[in-house]
Amino acid sequence: MSAVLEVEGLTAGYGSLTVLRDIGFRVDEGEIVVILGANGAGKTTTLRALAGLVPARGRVEFQGTPLLGRKADARARLGLGHVPEGRGTFTDLTVEENLRMGGIRLPRHELASALDHAYGVFPQLAALRDRAAGRLSGGEQQMLSVARALVARPRLLLLDEPSMGLAPQITAELFAELRRINERTGMALLLVEQNAAAALTIAHRGHVLESGDLVLSGSGTELMGDPSVRRAYLGI
Ligand code: ATP
Repeated sequence: MSAVLEVEGLTAGYGSLTVLRDIGFRVDEGEIVVILGANGAGKTTTLRALAGLVPARGRVEFQGTPLLGRKADARARLGLGHVPEGRGTFTDLTVEENLRMGGIRLPRHELASALDHAYGVFPQLAALRDRAAGRLSGGEQQMLSVARALVARPRLLLLDEPSMGLAPQITAELFAELRRINERTGMALLLVEQNAAAALTIAHRGHVLESGDLVLSGSGTELMGDPSVRRAYLGI
């Protein structure tokens, strides 16, 4: 299986604070990989380092192209999508305007079909297309941020705690939808989550991040059965 993302010796932080120390992992074509971790473990920092939003050292290759040193928008143009923590939609803009922002780099003739596809994946957004994003429910806003990222047709989508603030049922629906998109389009997903129970139901592989280090790796099923994961993240 060829890698869509290869990370080696990734070190990143904020000024003099080193958050990630020398971490390495890969995401294969069409794969869903989850990074689990508690508050402050460095999950958001990992995605921000990959997206080009915090300074980082090491080797990161996306479909064979080195990413470090490239600006965030150059990485997005290569096919790297990012759904940031806290949803990141433009609250004053309507659902449709937010989706159009997601497709800003697409040729005009592709935008209409990309929007149709996004509404096909999340039909509830079609009914809300003229509503301001700030007036959507938490679940609807989360769907909008995923839909907006999908409009850009990424090869790999980075998702920062998509379950945050969502009721368990909405989380389950969103994760099932992510799995369907992955199966239908082959888009790879790298998600970071505290909600291990939801994430491990869709992940092919996963890692546990503790204090900036990857301390455990395995298939979704292996991690689901691991006693330390069950204790720390599944509350079992
Ligand atoms: P959470 O689940 O709470 O979002 P996380 O695993 O995503 O946690 P990060 O947001 O990556 O963790 O934060 C890792 C560490 O970096 C924390 O100690 C945090 O306080 C620190 N940190 C995060 N953002 C900044 C920043 N902009 N400046 C300085 N330190 C930061």
